[in-house]
Amino acid sequence: MTNLALNNSFSPSGPSLADLVDRLATSQTLEPAELAALIEGRDQDLADYLFQKARQARQEHYGAAIYARGLIEFTNHCKNDCYYCGIRASNSKADRYRLTSEEILSCCQAGHELGFRTFVLQGGEDPYYSPEKIAAIVQEIKSRFPDCAITLSVGEKSREDYKLWRAAGAERYLLRHETHNAEHYQKLHPPKMSRDNRLRCLQDLKELGYQVGCGFMVGSPGQTTAHLVEDLLFIKSLGPQMVGIGPFIPHQDTPFAQAKAGSLELTLFLLGLIRLLIPTVLLPATTALGTISPTGREMGVLAGANVVMPNLSPVSVRAKYLLYDNKICLGEEAAECRFCLQNRLAKIGYQLVVHRGDCAQFPVPGAVLASGPAVGLSR
Ligand code: SF4
Repeated sequence: MTNLALNNSFSPSGPSLADLVDRLATSQTLEPAELAALIEGRDQDLADYLFQKARQARQEHYGAAIYARGLIEFTNHCKNDCYYCGIRASNSKADRYRLTSEEILSCCQAGHELGFRTFVLQGGEDPYYSPEKIAAIVQEIKSRFPDCAITLSVGEKSREDYKLWRAAGAERYLLRHETHNAEHYQKLHPPKMSRDNRLRCLQDLKELGYQVGCGFMVGSPGQTTAHLVEDLLFIKSLGPQMVGIGPFIPHQDTPFAQAKAGSLELTLFLLGLIRLLIPTVLLPATTALGTISPTGREMGVLAGANVVMPNLSPVSVRAKYLLYDNKICLGEEAAECRFCLQNRLAKIGYQLVVHRGDCAQFPVPGAVLASGPAVGLSR
């Protein structure tokens, strides 16, 4: 029991919402109605209490270390047409680009010199990059930077493709499920895409031994509390190593141009809940959080996040990879982004470290850490 005087009881005779937070912290699960009660009944006092518990849980597994992922957005071509996305195939205003293998490797080289030990290759579903081409890029990065982890984030593919890339050296894969609810999924995606195929991909990735990341946008059009509860329970059952959530932000050239953005406050609350549902999870304070609030990423860390993803893409293409409007950090060089984040984190008592940053519950057999124990980055 907690002594917090919270006035938002779950039911007059039952546990208070703060009691539910306590139970979530202890048992790492709650009933659907209890999760819904937390989301619906939240206020600032409850959020502060949740964040305090979330920070404790993160501290236990990761201390004050924040892991950096060097993000390389290597293509903004995409064959898909997700209704919320600024680089969807139908957006004829998008200025398209592709990075060559050498350009990608230059980004890795610059990132390695800056202390990054994880590279995230992210792009639209672009048929130009055949499975073999991607495998060759992964192999080359691995051979030049054997102390680094490679994360792929290139969408829905066949199990065979995932297998090929795993064998080439990719260890992690990010694929947001977006919403576990099939009906809601169809409100966000065209008919030829399906929730079931997205889930099949995540299952395949897990079975192939990837560290898997799923996630969703907070406040996407049509999203309800019931959907969020379904998402949280799905995440719990999948047991991913990473969960990427960020506020939905509309893009002016999409069917959702006029839709309302998701809220910072609800995104932070969900970060806290996810940290308690899976205490060892790798949880990014996303660029979208930093976009809706100047200190959004810091607030994300204080709510339980432990990963940041500075951009390593060449500045010349940054402004072309716009999934949503007003994205931050479009003009800064990789080094500026990295040091800016390092300083922001230091101000709130956290340390950006030189480390692969594997999940605390996913030891990689034979993995060689970049520098043994985590060490701080110095200028
Ligand atoms: S969200 Fe991903 S798959 Fe969908 S259109 Fe955008 S880049 Fe393509």
